[in-house]
Amino acid sequence: TPIILWFRKDLRLEDNAALACAAECGRPIIPVYILEPREAGNGPLGAAQAWWLHHALQALHRALEQAGSRLILRRGPADAVLGALIAETAADRVFWNRRYDPAGIAVDSALKEEMTRSGLTVRSFAGQLLHEPSRLKTGAGGPYRVYTPFWRALEASGEPAEPIPAPTRLAAPDSWPASERLETWRLLPTKPDWAEAFSTVWTPGEAGARQRLEDFIDTGLSGYKARRDYPALPHTSMLSPHLALGEISPATVWHATRGLTERLAAEDVIHFRKELAWRDFSYHLLYHFPELDTKNWNERFDAFPWQDAPDLLERWQRGQTGYPIVDAGMRQLWRTGFMHNRVRMIVASFLIKNLMIDWREGERWFRDTLVDADPASNAASWQWVAGSGADAAPFFRIFNPISQGEKFDVNGDYVRAFVPELAKLDAAFIHRPFEAPPALLAAAGVKLGETYPLPIVDHKAARNRAMAAYQALPRPD
Ligand code: FAD
Repeated sequence: TPIILWFRKDLRLEDNAALACAAECGRPIIPVYILEPREAGNGPLGAAQAWWLHHALQALHRALEQAGSRLILRRGPADAVLGALIAETAADRVFWNRRYDPAGIAVDSALKEEMTRSGLTVRSFAGQLLHEPSRLKTGAGGPYRVYTPFWRALEASGEPAEPIPAPTRLAAPDSWPASERLETWRLLPTKPDWAEAFSTVWTPGEAGARQRLEDFIDTGLSGYKARRDYPALPHTSMLSPHLALGEISPATVWHATRGLTERLAAEDVIHFRKELAWRDFSYHLLYHFPELDTKNWNERFDAFPWQDAPDLLERWQRGQTGYPIVDAGMRQLWRTGFMHNRVRMIVASFLIKNLMIDWREGERWFRDTLVDADPASNAASWQWVAGSGADAAPFFRIFNPISQGEKFDVNGDYVRAFVPELAKLDAAFIHRPFEAPPALLAAAGVKLGETYPLPIVDHKAARNRAMAAYQALPRPD
């Protein structure tokens, strides 16, 4: 009798505990991916990540074929799909790797209970995170709310388990159940094809993830600590979309950086691992506070006077705010499905504090447009910037988009790459075109208000308004 192996956010063969265990049994394996309804399972799928998923599933199917297997695609609620597959194949075991977002947990625990009751064997495994989010506890036995002690506990709890090699051969069933055709899922954009440039930046799939990791270790990791904040420099790994869909495990990434301290500075390796641990911390928060993407962690923010300003929201989304670093970030996001971390912080601060638009609007836009959209990291990061989160930046840290640009994009290379209408502007004014002398603007072909917008808000005035709103919030008892 076959085993059903349900792939979810673990679209890989290497370091896949559920797959390895199924392979060890020596029984036929039926790998399946289920496109669950919008609100169930993996949560609503954003359009950019849907593009990624399409290609990731193709890559997984190819990798499975090389191991003598294939990927069965089905759409619908997981209980109905699995029920049908079990009836069709007479499988009596279902294996999967755990997921930790509230929607996924709800589906999985109900399923496990129901299937176990009907005599099936259900086994779930770890692998999406470095450590199980329920495992690390404070001295008092509760969840962590602050990152640094969380990191210390994570470090003290030992290395994550060694990655498990990919099985080379998977036993096939005598006959395969039918699979839906991926094309009928319509995960790719039709017209206009806004994802046109994605494939020039990304190679979804396990091989692409592995290549990205190797390239980063060869050329990006050295200098990571000092240079990771500069968006024009290639000093971050860009592994996040691969991690988001589990094409590579965080343990594989962690272990790949082991033993490198002979040729690399220890501070670079440690800092990189600390960022990986932020991903775990975000899941820790989401696991213990399932409403992280909808409710302020700090209830004091419930009274914040958010502005209903659809026009300004749209200017932000389209990268038309008149602040070049903000516009470059929002356009990088639109064009490539990604944005550098420093710039994510700048654009989020701008939306929340300069425009006083609810952080949940930003969270929603990012979820739809990021290829790395992740229920934990996205919600935790938005609340971090808003100041409403668990271990958040204080509200009064309001980024100045001009000085942030001048500090982290010194020559304006990042702005030039994504805001071509400013490409010829002198570096001295690239982050403040509205202060440039008319002759310089003319020489660069910039007509403010025509070829590039004037600022949609005055930073200083907006800053004062946000601070006043914050100070008027009711004090905690
Ligand atoms: P690297 O610097 O190479 O870091 C390595 C890995 O560590 C990343 O791939 C990522 O998995 C993890 N990591 C790094 N920084 C963070 C962080 N601050 N929080 C959690 N994990 C981190 N990250 C997502 O994966 N998905 C999101 O939806 C997401 N939304 C964000 C929204 C906002 C407003 C902000 C400020 C940050 C958000 N981040 C999100 C976190 C971070 O920006 C990205 O993980 C990072 O930019 C990915 O680039 P990288 O892989 O090159 O990172």
